[in-house]
Parts: sequence; structure tokens; C-alpha cells
Amino acid sequence: MNTRYPRVEINLSHLKENAEFVVGKCAEQGIDVFGVIKGTTGIPECARQFADGGCKGIASSRLEQIEDTRAFGVDKPYLLLRVPMLSEVEDVVRLTDYSLNSELVVLEALNKEAARQGKIHKVILMADVGDLREGFWDKDEMADVAVKVEKEMDNLELAGVGTNVGCYGSLLPTVEKLEELVAIAENIEAKIGRKLEYISGGGTSSFMRVLDGNIPERINHLRIGEVILLALDLSLYYGYDLSAMHQDVYTLKAEVIEVKTKPSVPVGELGVDAFGHTPEYPEKGMRRKVLLGMGKVDFGSIEEIFPRDPGIEILGASSDHTILDVTDSKVDYKVGDIVEFTINYASIVYVTNCRNVRRVFV
Ligand SMILES: *Cc1c(COP(=O)(O)O)cnc(C)c1O
Repeated sequence: MNTRYPRVEINLSHLKENAEFVVGKCAEQGIDVFGVIKGTTGIPECARQFADGGCKGIASSRLEQIEDTRAFGVDKPYLLLRVPMLSEVEDVVRLTDYSLNSELVVLEALNKEAARQGKIHKVILMADVGDLREGFWDKDEMADVAVKVEKEMDNLELAGVGTNVGCYGSLLPTVEKLEELVAIAENIEAKIGRKLEYISGGGTSSFMRVLDGNIPERINHLRIGEVILLALDLSLYYGYDLSAMHQDVYTLKAEVIEVKTKPSVPVGELGVDAFGHTPEYPEKGMRRKVLLGMGKVDFGSIEEIFPRDPGIEILGASSDHTILDVTDSKVDYKVGDIVEFTINYASIVYVTNCRNVRRVFV
């Protein structure tokens, strides 16, 4: 079983070093990092690297992942990232220390459930500063709810306020947007007469402000996943130098099951492919083709996986097969050879979630 493919190899020490780098940079600016494990499907061995790398807490959008990681023995404060469903309130109180929230009715349910379980549950209220996913749009309503939590909900602790950007609305965490969040926090602090524990300024994209050294001083909490897991987006899209980090934590490996020379255009009358599409097939003559025992079921989309051999072109995939053109490769591929791919955030989620893909820690 251990020799089987496809597999995703995860370099745990590189993952830990990435966490250490991010935690170190944030610590210089007084910021606690909660490591976000949802990108890697909450694999407990990965979560442990976030913890060992110095993350103050562990965060996920999924309670199942938090439950598994807790059971594995990663002993840290846990934060639920996705605003809770009413139907999961009992488990939120049971499994997490903090949750992000935006609805009064959910807060009331959390308070009631926390009382039932004899706990104090910490909440961070989310402000929508323009990205248009979760959070209060009306900041007066938000302040009213904050005061209600503080004064009337005995089993909740108002731990802070937060925001999320760059997920739906592709909003950038500019200094102005983060100052807007600080102003929202300070307005609430004035109303409740004390300082909040956390002002949570976002995820990986807000780490750009840490790297630039211009994150507003009162932001003291970030929830970071991608840059620790992959260290890819900030260098690829925004040109940041992340050469001190590892971009090779994850390697996807698949096995060659056929090698043949075939035409570049299907032969005969064309209808639709396995997914109802009729792709373009450029005429390039006879080509050397490799078939892999791995398909869309394993990684999602061919746009999201990147062969490490620059001589490989991915021609397409069906559910369980991937077709490569290796004519320009220096490697003479044979049946049984292993082909390696770099993966991005979209495919790491698939690959780590897929029971066909073995997880191997290196
Ligand atoms: C996923 C998520 C994050 C982490 O995002 P990254 O870009 O992976 O750092 C932070 N906050 C919330 C609310 C999230 O859903």
C-alpha cells in the first residue's frame, strides 16, 4: 500500500520552517498568528507543524478538522473561521475556544449552549470592510451587538473584532482598510470601557502589510494559511521575495501507465468529451504521449497542477487519467516511472481530501 500512487508527499520540516518564518515576522510587529489548516484538509501531522512552528492557535473553517487535530494531541487554542451554522452550535462550543461571528441569533445560541456546557466561549465579531463575504455591513448594528455580548451574554467573552479580505471581492488589505477596522474596534472599546484582546486583520494577504512594515499598530492577530503551506501567492501575484521560505512542501506524484506515439488530433467524427465539452485539438503531427494513473477526481483541474519537468505539457484529463505530451522532454519516460507536480491552493485542497491519493510525510 505504501508504494502506491498517486500520492502527495508532504515535507513536514519545511512546513514547520515556513510557520516559523511567518510567526517570526509577525512577532516583530506584535502580532499573534493562528495557523489555518483548512487548505491541507486539517491533516493533524500538518497542524502539528503549525503549532511547533510557533503559531499561537490553530484555525479551520471545518469542525471535523478541529476535532481530529485535537484528538491527535495538538494542544492549542482553536478558532472556527467560518461563521457558525445554527445546527453546529453545540459542537462549536465543545470543540473550539474562539469563533468568528456576524449574526445575533447565532451569538444568542452560542451563549445558551456555552451555559449548558458550563463554558465561556470567546467570540470575534466580523466587520465587512468591502470584500462582501461574511461580516457586519452596518457598523452601528455591529457595535450594538458587541455591547449586547459584553453586557448580556454571560457565557460569551467578546474577544475582539476581525475582518476578512481578498476571498470573494479580491479586496486588498490596504493600510486604509485595516485602519478602518481599528477604528471600528476602538469605537466598540469606548462603548464597553475596555480594550479588546484581538483585532484580527485577515489572512495571508494581510501578511503583505507585515512584510512592508506598515500594518497598523493595533492589529495584533492574523489567521494565516496559504503563505505557510505554499508560499506561492504573494510572490506570484504581488512580487514579494519569499526566497527564505519553502515552496516545495507539497509534491504530487503519479505513475506512468502507458507511453505511446499518437496523433495530436482525435481521429474520426467528434462529439463531446467526458465532461460534455468539445476542446480544441491543435494539429502538431505525431507526438510522444504519456498516460498517468491519476485524473480529475484526484486533483480537480489540470490548470492547478504544474509538472516539475519543463518538457511536459498537460494535454488533458478525464476522471482517472491524465494525458501528457512529453515529446519535448529530455526524459525518456517508461511505464512505471513517476511524474512529479507542484500544486497550488486549489489543487492541494483536492489532493489532501481525496482518499485515492496517499499521504506520505517526508
Ligand atoms: C481561509 C481563511 C483564512 C486564511 O486564509 P489564507 O489566505 O489561507 O491565509 C483566514 N480567515 C478566514 C475567515 C478564512 O476563511
